[in-house]
Amino acid sequence: MFSSKSYDEQYFKAENASERPHEIIFQEAKLTERSVKLAEGSQAVCAFVNDHLDRAVLDGLKAGGTEYVAMRCAGFNNVDLKAVAEFGMKIVRVPAYSPNAVAEHTLALLLTLNRRIHRAYNRVREGNFSLNGLVGFDLNGLTVGIIGTGKIGCLVAKLFRGFGCHVICSDVFENEMMKSLGGCYVSQDELFKESDIISLHCPLLESTYHLIDEEAIGKMKRGVTILNTSRGALIDTVAVIRGLKTGHIENLAIDVYEEEDNLFFEDQSSEVMQDDIFARLLTFPNVLITGHQAFFTDTALTQIARVTIGNLTELEARGACENEISLG
Ligand code: NAD
Repeated sequence: MFSSKSYDEQYFKAENASERPHEIIFQEAKLTERSVKLAEGSQAVCAFVNDHLDRAVLDGLKAGGTEYVAMRCAGFNNVDLKAVAEFGMKIVRVPAYSPNAVAEHTLALLLTLNRRIHRAYNRVREGNFSLNGLVGFDLNGLTVGIIGTGKIGCLVAKLFRGFGCHVICSDVFENEMMKSLGGCYVSQDELFKESDIISLHCPLLESTYHLIDEEAIGKMKRGVTILNTSRGALIDTVAVIRGLKTGHIENLAIDVYEEEDNLFFEDQSSEVMQDDIFARLLTFPNVLITGHQAFFTDTALTQIARVTIGNLTELEARGACENEISLG
């Protein structure tokens, strides 16, 4: 298991405590071309969102005897699926471990940012009870645009409906669940034009790369709030920084960042920040960032470990699994 943290070990050990446990070797190292040798002799590797599963790494895995890749996450944009198929390997994932965790974190980010809780927390601790700069806005009556209306998008819509917001949405497929929640499908351009808040919940694909770029921002309302708990590269960060500087974008809350690979999940507090774009984002009082923690609840970690162990057991028993990613 690559990119393993103490919490992964804790949850996986608990779920692996059966009569016939799998032998798991926990590695802190990220899976890359350099570390791939650590998997030698392992029938399966378990990887996470920022592990590199490009052709060279998969080639290395195959050479070391690995047959299965078990992603302990839903997304697989970091995997070269063509190479997986070509090398005759199989790949499984955890399609949904807790969409509620991600949806709730999305609202937590918005409420924190809008009501300036992150700033108020520090002020009050220092005995500063001034309210200057802490003005927020009511959510009731606002229009929220949701891009990607799958499991998480629908739950986010439900939460926003609870706050009295109008929900408009766009997706390549219409979801009946979204309609039953009162979500109204519109074109992406109309969504950009009408939304006070835009929340991203579609996967990172070639077609969604930099979905929020200079042109898209130009179509948005002045004063828009953008939320991204999906994948960093849905947003062109440089274009968003420009939008924040001009005030076209009033608030930005993100749990994901396009270059997070070199930053997130590690304590880098004693290092000199090398990413100037990220460093610029940190300077805005109206930008709130968490380090890919939207999924991070006890419910989700239990489910991730349970489903991943189940996937491996299934693969071992019959060489196939219901959570296989289609390579066709
Ligand atoms: P899902 O598959 O249930 O829904 C994704 C939706 O996006 C689908 O309805 C799909 O049709 C739609 N979509 C695809 N292409 C689109 C496009 N071009 N425009 C608009 N919509 C499009 O997935 P989900 O479980 O709701 O997860 C959504 C995303 O959340 C995942 O792709 C993943 O990247 C992200 N995620 C983040 C975290 C985190 O911790 N921050 C955790 C889990 C998932």
